[in-house]
Parts: sequence; C-alpha cells; structure tokens
Amino acid sequence: MTVADVLDIASPLTAAQFAAAVAEHERRAATLALHLRRLEASGEWAFDGSVSIAAWMREHCRMSNRAAHAWVRRGRLLDTYGAFAAAAVSGALSQSQVDALEHLHRPKYAEHLAEHQSALVEIVEQLSAADTETVCKRWRDDADAVIDEAAPPAEPERFLTASRDSEGALLLHSKQHGGAATEIEKALRNASTYEGDDDTRSHGERGADALFDIAAFYNKNHADDGTPRNLPHVSISVDESTIRAGRPEGVDGDTEEPMASSCTDTYLCDCKIHTILRDAHGAPVGFGRSRYSVPRKLFSQVAARDGGCRFPGCDRKIRHCDAHHMRYWRHGGSTDYVNLVLLCSRHHHFVHQHHLQMKLDDHSNLSVVWRDGRQRTSRPRGAPPRRSRE
Ligand SMILES: [Zn+2]
Ligand SMILES: [Zn+2]
Repeated sequence: MTVADVLDIASPLTAAQFAAAVAEHERRAATLALHLRRLEASGEWAFDGSVSIAAWMREHCRMSNRAAHAWVRRGRLLDTYGAFAAAAVSGALSQSQVDALEHLHRPKYAEHLAEHQSALVEIVEQLSAADTETVCKRWRDDADAVIDEAAPPAEPERFLTASRDSEGALLLHSKQHGGAATEIEKALRNASTYEGDDDTRSHGERGADALFDIAAFYNKNHADDGTPRNLPHVSISVDESTIRAGRPEGVDGDTEEPMASSCTDTYLCDCKIHTILRDAHGAPVGFGRSRYSVPRKLFSQVAARDGGCRFPGCDRKIRHCDAHHMRYWRHGGSTDYVNLVLLCSRHHHFVHQHHLQMKLDDHSNLSVVWRDGRQRTSRPRGAPPRRSRE
C-alpha cells in the first residue's frame, strides 16, 4: 500500500476539513483521557504486573514514557475539573490548551482553580495555544499572590503501588520524601545483612532481602499481646488431606490467593494453629482453641541454644527467626529440642523452597545439605542473647 492509497489523493482534505478533523480527533482524545482516568482508578491495569498506569500504556499502547505521562496527566486534570472536561470534550479547548491548563493542576492551587475553572475556560477558549500559556502563567502569578503563604503546605506527593506479575512475583513502586525517605533508607540499611566471603548477592538482592525481613519483622511484632512474637502473621487455610499427601495446598486468608506448597510448609513449621470446623458446604460451624505449633517454652529453649538464625553465615537475631522442623512434622518429625532449629524468615523460606536437609550433631553443630550433595555447617551461638542486644 502506498501513501497515495492511504490518503485517497482523488479527494484531498481542504484546509477547513483538516482543521475540523484535528478538532474531532482531539475531542475524542479528551473523552479517551477521561476513560484512561477511570481505568487508572479501577486498578485493572495492574493485573498484568504493570507498576503504574503509565507503565501499562508504555507496554500496551506502545507509548514513550513522556507520551504516557501526558495522557495520564490530562486524564487526571479533566477528571478533577468538570469545566475543563466539558470544554475539551466539546472542542472548545484544544489539546494544547488542555496541556497548558495542566500546569495549574497542583495541590497548592486546587481550591483556587476549582473556583476559577469556568471563568478560565471563558477567557482562553478563543485564544491560541501560546496565548493560553501566557494566561495560565499570569493566573499562576496572581494565585501565588492570593494564596496565603502562611497556610500549611500541602503534604508532598507520595505513593506505593504493588502488583503481581505473570509469575506471581510482587512488584513495588514507591515515591517517598523527607522523614519517610530517611526512615525507609535507615530501615533498609539496618536490615541488610552481609554473609561474609560467601555472600554473592548483588546490592539489589541484598536490598530485596532486607525488605523481606522488615515486613516479616513487622508482621511478627506489630501488636503487643504479651509475647514478643505474635504468630501467626499470615492466616492460611489449608486442606488437611493435602498436607498428608505431601503437597500442602494453602490459601492466603487475606487475599484468597493460593500459596506455593513450600511457602505453606514454611508457615506451618512455626505458627499458631486455629481449627475451624466446617459443614459439608464449607460454612464454619465451630471454632477450636488455638495452639502454637511450637510451644513458646520450647521455642525459648531452642533460641537459647541457637542464638539466632542457624543458616551458615547468617547473623540474624532471634527476634527475626522461626523454629524450623528439620524433619517436617508432616513427615512425622517431632516438635522437640533436637528436631528444631532457628532460621530467619528468608532462610526459612529458602530451606523449604530448596528442600535442604539439615542435621544436628551431639554438639548442636548443624549441617545443611543441598540436593546435589554440597554441604555447609554452622555452630550454635550458645548463650541466650542479652535482651538489649537482641
Ligand atoms: Zn520450616
Ligand atoms: Zn538467616
């Protein structure tokens, strides 16, 4: 197909027709921008793992970052100011004029702009894009003069979006300022571990591991019910028959997402078990008493021996650790001193994921054996840690 075919040279657009076609194109674009805003608010775009609506547009609409953000900003502006939306959809404002007005869409001006939106449309609707920009700049200067500088500043923009990609991995995207930024950096620094010469993790991997530990620590310690460790931090429904079959199928009680069986296994190792009796239709008919899968007294004894995570090289303290059943309790492993070792959250999940075998000798030295036969050992840290150092 040639250019001539596409354009149908026999009936070229007149200048007036061209202007009308552009106006029509921009009216439709304004409506689409409003749809985009609705789509953004619905969160539907996140289901393929995109971290933002702009990222989704880059992927699915083959847009540049700049083009995607321009669309998102237009949608947000038009959705906020009804007079601008009506004027854009009717063609009274061109897209370039909308983009000029977008520069006024700042938290600081929100109230003022809401009040003046109709008047602004009346002023600029007959103007060129360049003149509209001049008007907007003047409006801003006037607004700055009027807005009480003593008024408390609006809170800075911040966000955290979380979504799952096609493999179920969690993708996070966040913006933080000031104290929040400092606090988060500090927590990541504090939670970072270095596992000696064997530590081949990248900077990014260490950061991701630190964030995992921060989340696990919070979940274990967020409420004070009289014990330093509040279990469980995740509520899972597990079909008992699948435990017996060796591949426990757990469902996350909060999200109703199925969990990997190694993940379910990890949580079952050290949790508070609460029995819910259900009728044939799955409706709960009774609640049993909850109990710890590892009694707290036993946990303390194991903690006194291990002093923290027993994974070779790891220096995580007790507070971050779970008790792991070396021989899984679903394989008949007992919940006792010689079958339990402490592992930090990350290494606990790691051990279950990779089916590592662990064994304690008579001196409580631990050997960790990989499936390919590689082996590493760790020694108990011994004395119960002082509370202040923990
Ligand atoms: Zn375990
Ligand atoms: Zn560890």
